[in-house]
Amino acid sequence: MAASQTSLFSVHLTPDRGYAVFANAPIKKGTLLLSETPLIRIHKTHYLNHDVVTAYNKLSPSRQQRYWTLASAHGQDSSRYPDQIYFSVPEKEKKRIEEQHEARTAGEKSILSIFMTNAMECDKGAAVFEVAARFNHSCVPNAHFAWCEGLGREMIFAIKDLGVGEEITLSYCDPFYDISMRRWELQHYGFVCECIACTDIETPGSFGQQSKDRRWRLREIDDSFDVQPSADMKLKMGIEMVSLMAREGLCTPNLAHTYLQIARISADKGDMHTAVKAAKHALENYLICLGKDSEKTKNAEKSLRAFTKQLPEEKVKAAGPGTASGVMKNGVKA
Ligand SMILES: [Zn+2]
Repeated sequence: MAASQTSLFSVHLTPDRGYAVFANAPIKKGTLLLSETPLIRIHKTHYLNHDVVTAYNKLSPSRQQRYWTLASAHGQDSSRYPDQIYFSVPEKEKKRIEEQHEARTAGEKSILSIFMTNAMECDKGAAVFEVAARFNHSCVPNAHFAWCEGLGREMIFAIKDLGVGEEITLSYCDPFYDISMRRWELQHYGFVCECIACTDIETPGSFGQQSKDRRWRLREIDDSFDVQPSADMKLKMGIEMVSLMAREGLCTPNLAHTYLQIARISADKGDMHTAVKAAKHALENYLICLGKDSEKTKNAEKSLRAFTKQLPEEKVKAAGPGTASGVMKNGVKA
């Protein structure tokens, strides 16, 4: 029996991975799968145990009960984490690290361990969602989550076409992280990822092995992109990123962001046709991942409109048929 269900997906308990979310029907990319208000929310990024417990105590008894059904990544081996905190770390931050380490390695689940395992970033804070928390991770996700501050809701969109029964996954970490960084990050959630990008990484020619090289390169380009002074080199790097993401099957907003960078660099160089083409791709990807109301989508729309106005043929139209260039456009020489 499904633990929870909508017309689009059902949440089921799996034998090996806790709860997981599966598509009930074929779903087109860009479909809004979930729009959910928080079960519990903390209005600060660097929260302490006290903040989480205070927020928990304000929940109704039935909400508290539901909170305890969520996953917890406690009981972890402490030797897998550094045994010292840098002396330069401020006291309050030290306390936060110690509390979280304790919750992670304790023998029993706690209010804090549940919060840490399920929290999703909100505007200047974090929140836990009852249904959104059930989506598992994949480094090649087929859905994307984003917090909408205006609505006060977490939105999850399908970013690939989904088949009936297909598991719906999100990426809990930056998709540009290489495999060692992803493993480190995901260890905090208490699992080792076994997605297509994380398996068979030593088998020559396998997706996993190629993925390892591609993500390493994605990270390398992403790290050096902003400090690269040459526009031509940036353009080359952006195009390489798009191609690497396509081969990785990554269609997260990173793709839209890269297209928008390509569009802006092309526009600066005066190549308006490439700028418009790239901005269209950016807008299309933002619409799929974040929906039409997202600020990022609206910005991409604005850029596309601005670049389109600067196309040589649009400038001719705007100048009107009586001008010299207008005559040229109609194929009649002045
Ligand atoms: Zn993975």
